[in-house]
Amino acid sequence: MKIALIAHDKKKNDLVQFSTAYTSILEQHELFATGTTGLRISEATGLQIHRFQSGPLGGDQEIGAMIANNQMDMVIFFRDPLTAQPHEPDVSALIRLCDVYSVPLATNMGTAEVLIHGLEKGFFSWREIIRERQEGGNQ
Ligand code: PGA
Repeated sequence: MKIALIAHDKKKNDLVQFSTAYTSILEQHELFATGTTGLRISEATGLQIHRFQSGPLGGDQEIGAMIANNQMDMVIFFRDPLTAQPHEPDVSALIRLCDVYSVPLATNMGTAEVLIHGLEKGFFSWREIIRERQEGGNQ
């Protein structure tokens, strides 16, 4: 499964903690992240993460493009609801695309816990079927 990890600045410590706690699950998957989030997590955990641009420089849009091509299976996005973001339109667009493509999305630690345990139990294997169908349809 392809998983995107993103955290706004005030939430980065939370996502680093979360990723540290669940390294053994996350390492079984293909991980993607916005620039700074990816760096912080890989430094703390040693996880291999494909890093896109930093969020304000287009990283959210790069992840959005993967969602639009059905190439992302889960998004864990610890957003900061109390601080204005210069790239708010990109943040909204990313969340919107998750809803367009029915991609499981956690915007806070509570939901992320449920998703990661579901991932461990194989609850999201339907995503692989959708991706295979899409890839078959594109040939
Ligand atoms: P960052 O981007 O990981 O590069 O800080 C996250 C964001 O602000 O969207």
